[in-house]
Amino acid sequence: MRTRPLANTQLHASVLALGTVKLGRNHGLKYAEGFPLPTDDEALALLRAASDLGINLIDTAPAYGVSESRLGELLPRVAPRDRWILCTKAGESFENGASTFDFSPAAITASVERSLQRLRTDRLELVLIHSNGDDAHALDAAGPALESLKSRGLIRAWGISTKTPEGALRAANECDAVMLTINAGHPHDLPAASTAGKRGAAVLVKKALASGSASATRSAAALTDALRLALTADGVTSVVVGTINPDHLRANAAAAEETLRDRGN
Ligand code: NAP
Repeated sequence: MRTRPLANTQLHASVLALGTVKLGRNHGLKYAEGFPLPTDDEALALLRAASDLGINLIDTAPAYGVSESRLGELLPRVAPRDRWILCTKAGESFENGASTFDFSPAAITASVERSLQRLRTDRLELVLIHSNGDDAHALDAAGPALESLKSRGLIRAWGISTKTPEGALRAANECDAVMLTINAGHPHDLPAASTAGKRGAAVLVKKALASGSASATRSAAALTDALRLALTADGVTSVVVGTINPDHLRANAAAAEETLRDRGN
């Protein structure tokens, strides 16, 4: 798996990353179909497939149910800690079927400390603010606490998973990293990706397959087309595709390789 520099961390992230919403939560989501949470054996098979493919960036969040705690238990059974780049989020909680948001310094700090415990680690490579849609407020409120966590050495880099093109552009100009939506139906964040790339900030892409839409996943060619748009967009570091199916993960890795083979990036 090809890698690209992850902002100023000295780390290199795989161009395809694993999104783990479906590892920990199966209600209150927008996917077309319901699904049971994978068993531990199934989750281990998925994580082993990721490791075998050279995927090192794992994206999770406190709002993804038991995703963080499962990763904390299972990842060490697959590969040592320094083999993984862990990205989690802060600001959103999902409990009793509903999301709540708190971007205050105390809540952000407590959230990161809880993520460290659940992920069974002493540092996180990347923490993103889990925006509620008001990206500007989330950045203003949570940014100083994340900067302080960074200066304490608990996190290597921070940014925001944005919901608006304006928020994306601001984060691209200010943060170490930004998570954007890029797919055929949502090209609006492409300028922010380019801006971030020029600054050396990391750009992670979410929803590259439009959350599994039929048009993006109906064939190998459609999959390659969908991934190409995100993987080759100016400034993009890594495309975070969510899956709990190891065969889908392998197909995505093959499509990514095919896309980038002749480009040298
Ligand atoms: P996505 O990656 O575009 O699509 C994921 C969906 O596509 C899953 O339902 C998956 O089902 C399906 N899929 C994946 N590979 C496939 C393949 N080869 N063939 C057929 N179906 C395939 O969208 P997403 O899950 O919404 O977002 C990706 C990740 O971004 C998330 O996991 C999360 O880490 C992050 N994210 C962050 C935020 C935020 O911070 N606000 C919001 C959304 C997402 P299978 O499990 O069956 O493969």
